[in-house]
Amino acid sequence: MFSKVSKAGLIIVSLFLLLSCSQQAQYQHLSGATMGTRYNISAALPQGVSKAAVQQQIDKQLENINHSMSTWRDDSLISQFNQAAVGTSLEVDADFIAVLDISRHVYQASAGAFNPAIGALVDLWGFGPRLSVAQLQSIPSEEAIAEAMQNSVFSSLTNKGLLLKKNSNIRLDFSAVAKGYGVDVLAKVLRDFGVVHYMVEIGGEIATLGNNPKGKAWRIGIESPENVRGQLITAVSVHQAAMATSGDYRNFFDIDGQHYSHTIDPRTGKPISNPLASVTVMADSVALADAWATALTVMGEKQALEVAEALNLAVYLISHKDGEFVSRYSTAMKAYLN
Ligand code: AMP
Ligand code: MG
Repeated sequence: MFSKVSKAGLIIVSLFLLLSCSQQAQYQHLSGATMGTRYNISAALPQGVSKAAVQQQIDKQLENINHSMSTWRDDSLISQFNQAAVGTSLEVDADFIAVLDISRHVYQASAGAFNPAIGALVDLWGFGPRLSVAQLQSIPSEEAIAEAMQNSVFSSLTNKGLLLKKNSNIRLDFSAVAKGYGVDVLAKVLRDFGVVHYMVEIGGEIATLGNNPKGKAWRIGIESPENVRGQLITAVSVHQAAMATSGDYRNFFDIDGQHYSHTIDPRTGKPISNPLASVTVMADSVALADAWATALTVMGEKQALEVAEALNLAVYLISHKDGEFVSRYSTAMKAYLN
């Protein structure tokens, strides 16, 4: 039967193969600085979609997000709100509302462990734009902590497209969710260009879809908290993922042998002191995963696992124990580990 295939037929088949090869998407790499870290994208751009066009949209969206919610920029919407006098109403954009809605959801679901109104405490402990850790000479006084806690009450904020400043000292801080949100936005930019195979990452928060350049599921590592770049504890293989990690090794300072991490427990007003070294969460969006990773870091291992089981969250925890790292994970995480 095969011998009956005509020469013309063979030519048509070869032509078809040639055409389908030339129409195959080309993987491109895009990267740059944003949000105090870097973004990295690997994406199979369909034929006719130029890297320059994608780059232009990426730059535009990152600029929008930073203009909306970067506390490191004085002219951003979040900084305008933070600096505003009591009684001021401020019109905010769609990105701001989206992040505020996610933040409110995780604030409520985590009983306040995640708190987007924690800006006063973050600044007090030297992790915000107002005072650097290097400038922080000593541990804040109990009075200063109590005052900053009073200014970190999230419920004193309303939102109907307009934000009302009810307390002049309240300061919003979206740092625990903005990178994840940024990944979601960049992933949408790619999908809008027809991209069906991509990996998007901002400072360790990751979204993937489809296949890697080798035609296989994307493989994402869970970093060792030892801060040795590239050293992995484990890895997950996924076609579609939204994943974020919080860790005590990412931003911290040490005074008198005591380790102070940039994650603050809103219930004590102090940097967390629990044995958790890193928390990785897989969720429906990277913004959600990012917010939950911070919330669970505040909760500590036991409560984090209880909450993960109750809400069916896929969570991978690495804790310090007797000078070593111990890993534990939730039932929903099992499906990703192979
Ligand atoms: P992440 O690396 O996503 O855990 O975010 C850490 C950053 O979020 C810190 O540098 C603070 O700006 C902010 N932050 C600290 N503690 C909290 C908290 N309990 N809830 C929300 N944001 C926080
Ligand atoms: Mg986070």
